[in-house]
Amino acid sequence: MSRRKKLFPCGHRGYGQVCHRCAQKEADKQEKRQLKHQWEATFTEDTINLRELPKNVVLKARTIIRSLERRTNYREFHGKRLRHNRFVISIPVTRNYRLLCRDYGSWIIPEEVVSHEEYNVCKPGGS
Ligand SMILES: [Zn+2]
Repeated sequence: MSRRKKLFPCGHRGYGQVCHRCAQKEADKQEKRQLKHQWEATFTEDTINLRELPKNVVLKARTIIRSLERRTNYREFHGKRLRHNRFVISIPVTRNYRLLCRDYGSWIIPEEVVSHEEYNVCKPGGS
């Protein structure tokens, strides 16, 4: 048997029946697709919509939401009541995102995560 490299239809050269470079690339693509699928599936567990947010924001927001469910005080996350609406509590998730929660008296319910820009827009006379 000759050990000379074969020219595959894809243009790569190598040994064997199939091009290993292309087979590896295809396997990587499959794996990436699967990871993306697994990641997307995690959103069905969330009580609020966290899709479209950067991954680190999603993970941080989930940590805060879970703590609030365990009745951790929002002040521990540096949450503050909005000046113009005392029933809304804004908790910083990252430098650019805020988790808005509504105060129902004995508990608070997370409502949405907004970017710093959106958050400023909904502030009356916002800066
Ligand atoms: Zn190839």
